[in-house]
Amino acid sequence: MNRIDFRSDTVTVPTDEMRRAAAEARVGDDVCGEDPTVNALEREAAVLLGKEAALFVPSGTFANQCALLTHCRSGDEVLLSERCHIVQHEAGAAALLSRAQLRTLSPDSPHLRFEDIAGRFREPGDFHYPRTALVCVEQATSDGTVVALEELREIKKLASARSVPVHMDGARLFNAAAALGVTPAAVADTADSVAVCLSKGLSAPVGSLLAGTVPFVGEARKNRKRMGGGMRQAGIIAAPGRVALREEVPRLAEDHARAKRLAAALGAVPGIELLREPDISMVFVRIPGWKKESRALVAALDERGFSVYPDEGGVWRFVTHRWVDDAGVDGFAAALRELLTRS
Ligand SMILES: *Cc1c(COP(=O)(O)O)cnc(C)c1O
Repeated sequence: MNRIDFRSDTVTVPTDEMRRAAAEARVGDDVCGEDPTVNALEREAAVLLGKEAALFVPSGTFANQCALLTHCRSGDEVLLSERCHIVQHEAGAAALLSRAQLRTLSPDSPHLRFEDIAGRFREPGDFHYPRTALVCVEQATSDGTVVALEELREIKKLASARSVPVHMDGARLFNAAAALGVTPAAVADTADSVAVCLSKGLSAPVGSLLAGTVPFVGEARKNRKRMGGGMRQAGIIAAPGRVALREEVPRLAEDHARAKRLAAALGAVPGIELLREPDISMVFVRIPGWKKESRALVAALDERGFSVYPDEGGVWRFVTHRWVDDAGVDGFAAALRELLTRS
């Protein structure tokens, strides 16, 4: 039986077309700007995101941290949500690399809002204050919610008026665009620089892109080198990324539809409480009907061919992606129904 993996959209393995593209990629020394496949990927990403230029980097964490390093001097201040990936899941890299001060804000909503940053910009001129160098937003957020573009535009307008750039952690920017029914460029337009991941729901094996103006990306290229991210014949890994942008971006809406199907199926199971309608590919539930340890549920599902992560504080997250089909969704809901009936 095929295993179905609901743990994350990072578990997506490359498609056959990606493997072929990697094998056949024309390559050169990318540190010298001579890898035609990397150059093509960077150009295509810039066009898709409506930015002047883009830079191919090893990971989403790398893209975010390279953006911080490029926008900030050490001791500068960054306004961002305490819940965001840069604060929670990048192992304190900002303290190590850009040495910027992360001023973590605690929004009432799942995402950073205009009200959270208004009044937080430091007045220049007083030497006691750090310089406010950057605002960071996420779209979609790490917990799978999509932010209305109008809200992001308000933040950008406020920051621009203070001459402060906005960086968007768009690890799932393409998901957000699909969910909103707008182009990726329309989403990226609400920030000065954007990071996108090729290796989450897009199935590429590795890589992210950092996009922005030509001068910004030029500086970021130097910082990528400093961070040890200058790669030589990187076309081998960039080639699947080109396939991802061309073939996988347009099909993300299918993953979202499947998440809605999963939400509906789980919502109908007694003992499962659906927390909200999914915006993208992530479904969040509580399972009060399961009286034993979480680990036992993970193991029971595993025996039935389904991989899930244990709950975090009672909340279970199930993620749909390219390698989860309708039959997998229905089978998973049926397995949970059976387990909860017996427990
Ligand atoms: C996954 C993710 C990243 C970066 O991920 P890597 O694992 O470093 O590629 C950044 N931001 C968000 C919101 C993410 O979900």
